[in-house]
Amino acid sequence: MNSGLLIVVSGPSGTGKGTVCAELLKKEDDLFLSVSTTSRGIRAGEIDGVTYNYTTADNFKKMIEDNLMLEWAVYSGNYYGTPKATVEKMMGEGKNVLLEIDVQGALQIKKSYPEAVLIFILPPSMQELRRRLVERGRETEEQIDERIFAAAFEFENAKRYDYVVVNDDLDKCVKAVESIICAEKYKTKRNIELIKKLVD
Ligand code: ADP
Ligand code: 5GP
Repeated sequence: MNSGLLIVVSGPSGTGKGTVCAELLKKEDDLFLSVSTTSRGIRAGEIDGVTYNYTTADNFKKMIEDNLMLEWAVYSGNYYGTPKATVEKMMGEGKNVLLEIDVQGALQIKKSYPEAVLIFILPPSMQELRRRLVERGRETEEQIDERIFAAAFEFENAKRYDYVVVNDDLDKCVKAVESIICAEKYKTKRNIELIKKLVD
């Protein structure tokens, strides 16, 4: 059986990654979201074990020491990471796994899994990015300024991703990401056994 795809989606806070990933998960039956572990506090509306697995900073550090993380990063003073065992198990079962993670984590993944597909979601403009953050109403004005400032570093690293997609019209953006996933599934290197079967 072919190993599943590892699809990494990043982009600045407020660009719409979460919204795009939620739409993808509704549409793609064979796509599974990896639930990250974090040391940040749980927010209203979030569910432990669904939105994130919440833990303490000390426990998170222990998980890093025990080599249980596929990647991890510190974002706004909190630890975030992808549990290795779950992702490897799902991929081994041929499932396509979606990671919605920050740039630092995505670049770690590219090193350990060069086959991973890295997709960067861009906002249509900086004004629209700010508007979306304000409209979402989750962060204070100061935190919004911090996130806009962090976006500049993230754009610099977007050049290292395999694909960039602008999230202007949501439907178009989701369709573009679906097309990328579809094309990746048909790559020759992932389907060599189809040719072999006919030749042998
Ligand atoms: P992220 O996960 O990147 O931080 P969210 O998915 O939370 O971003 O989206 C930020 C805000 O922008 C939300 O209020 C969301 O409804 C809105 N949004 C997402 N995509 C679009 C879009 N294409 N056009 C307009 N608003 C959008
Ligand atoms: P939030 O606190 O808003 O849920 O997430 C903050 C940032 O952490 C977002 O950019 C999100 O993509 C990133 N993030 C979430 N989970 C992970 C993870 O497992 N690893 C890494 N590196 N970043 C993550």
